[in-house]
Amino acid sequence: MPQEDIYRVLKDTFGYSEFRHNQKEVIRNVLAKIDSLVIMPTGGGKSICYQLPALLLDGITIVISPLIALMNDQVVALKQLGIKAATLHSNVSASARAIIVNEINQGKLKLLYLSPEGLLNRDTYLFVKQLNISLFAIDEAHCVSVWGNDFRPDYVKLSFIKDEFPDTPVIALTATADASTQQDIVKQLRLKSEKRFLSSFERTNISVQARSGQKRIEQIYEFINGQNHSSGIIYCLSRNNTEKIASKLKERGYKADFYHAGRSSDDRKVVQAKFQNDELTIICATIAFGMGIDKPNIRWVIHYNMPKNIEGYYQEIGRAGRDGQDASALLFYGWGDYTQLKRFIDEGVAEKTFKEVQLAKLERMWQFANALNCRTNFILNYFGEYKTKTCGRCDNCLSPPKYIDATTYGKMAISGIIRANQNINQAFLIDLLRGSHRQEVFALGLNHLKTFGVGREVPYKHWVFYINQMINQGIISVDFSDLSRLKITPLSKELLKDERQLELAEYFDQRKLKNEKPKKLKVDITNYNEDFYEKLKQWRVKLAKLKKVPSYVIFHDRTLKAIAASMPKTKNDLLSLDGIGKKKLADYGDDILEMTGG
Ligand code: ADP
Ligand code: MG
Ligand code: ZN
Repeated sequence: MPQEDIYRVLKDTFGYSEFRHNQKEVIRNVLAKIDSLVIMPTGGGKSICYQLPALLLDGITIVISPLIALMNDQVVALKQLGIKAATLHSNVSASARAIIVNEINQGKLKLLYLSPEGLLNRDTYLFVKQLNISLFAIDEAHCVSVWGNDFRPDYVKLSFIKDEFPDTPVIALTATADASTQQDIVKQLRLKSEKRFLSSFERTNISVQARSGQKRIEQIYEFINGQNHSSGIIYCLSRNNTEKIASKLKERGYKADFYHAGRSSDDRKVVQAKFQNDELTIICATIAFGMGIDKPNIRWVIHYNMPKNIEGYYQEIGRAGRDGQDASALLFYGWGDYTQLKRFIDEGVAEKTFKEVQLAKLERMWQFANALNCRTNFILNYFGEYKTKTCGRCDNCLSPPKYIDATTYGKMAISGIIRANQNINQAFLIDLLRGSHRQEVFALGLNHLKTFGVGREVPYKHWVFYINQMINQGIISVDFSDLSRLKITPLSKELLKDERQLELAEYFDQRKLKNEKPKKLKVDITNYNEDFYEKLKQWRVKLAKLKKVPSYVIFHDRTLKAIAASMPKTKNDLLSLDGIGKKKLADYGDDILEMTGG
């Protein structure tokens, strides 16, 4: 297939002049009739990877998709582009079905969307089987794997495609598959090729931060106050919370509403449409709100509760900043979230192995929330895109914690747990260490223990901060099967015996620090190092050529002068300069620091 053809179709039909990510390579592979697995972030442009070949190949492309809403959306969008496509699902009336079948028989349609159940339906299958099928596209392919985040048993049956149509190429696509899920998709679908097309998952315009979830609603007010009435989503675990928060925000004058599966489908449509056209700025929603939202200017996403895994979390924050402009993601987390999600899994009806996977994923999510190093890296590593370079824009990169020797705190906590016979939870342990006079503390007799009050000097919030870290480091464990009581571990004993030390991030007020914008420094830009300024200009020229943009798009002269005047040595120094925000810091920070010797 000549190269011009695919560019021509891209431009003429889809209206784009460049391919994104590795769309071009994927499309070539599909046109060469080789199976492919495409891992590309949400909004990356997976659909074109099969829609464009569908137009160039002889015959009809069958697209498998899990949701009727998704199929309808795609068909509507394709029709807008003048592409003949249809879907056959249970809600399609008999008369509409007859028309579609007729069109297909006349070879008029290029794409047919089906759900897995739809394809497996006997009548549909008999009909499909006699068609000239050019390609099978399996969208949301992670649904085929129990390791994935949204397993659907009907997807597994899709393995029959390769048996029945051994010569027809298959393209499987997903935005959410960690390394083991990728492997499993190839295996389950019996793909004949190991050709995988992995696009980077990094969204360089999204800044991630996580905060421990005390007084969440107040923290939310504070956060959205700084957001200048831009659009955002607040994800909650319960329907009830979406309603509560929406009503509080409305009282405060925000244009907010709520969205969850319990609302009528008409109401949901109205809410979504109003959000789409900016009549509403804030949607408080359960995860039911998501698939099919294609609003480019969502500036922020808040997770009121911690999601159950990184896949879901990343998909949800990925709805922000589709237009490429800066966006923020704020995650709240707390023990309550963790224990509730764990209970959902434990009490679910799923198979044992499935539950174990879900629990392991929840565990990773919890580690992410508590992470004290680059969060972007954490996510990229999770998806198998191993990176050591830090992002320079997440909370941990912008304000790295200071570490202290916390061996004494560790010993206090462990002794307290032992003296209380490992029968107390975190809150009681802190009360014990701080010598609280709460009635419940006395009722348990904790006031008679030797450790009562030994940690009085350390404020309550600080203890929470430290004990969470001790748990992450395995110095203490939490027994979820025993009312979340704290237990000692082999590491606890080593610490008590002075066989190891304990380093913890020093307490800082997560709320204050992370909301503070770095203050812009006043730098006297008339007084700069001229040689270094020249060097920076040369660097900028090279970069501008490479990126095919005007120089000033990279940095204005005055920013280069500010750099040459202040010779910044750290990322925070850089951020303090006028003209350098998080995005530019992430894009160019390392280059500049290399030149300044930072
Ligand atoms: P995904 O399925 O990966 O989440 P879509 O296929 O729905 O993403 O594409 C997301 C958006 O990006 C759509 O609006 C689509 O038209 C647009 N898009 C896809 N490819 C390109 C491209 N090469 N250039 C510009 N926009 C593109
Ligand atoms: Mg898609
Ligand atoms: Zn980072």
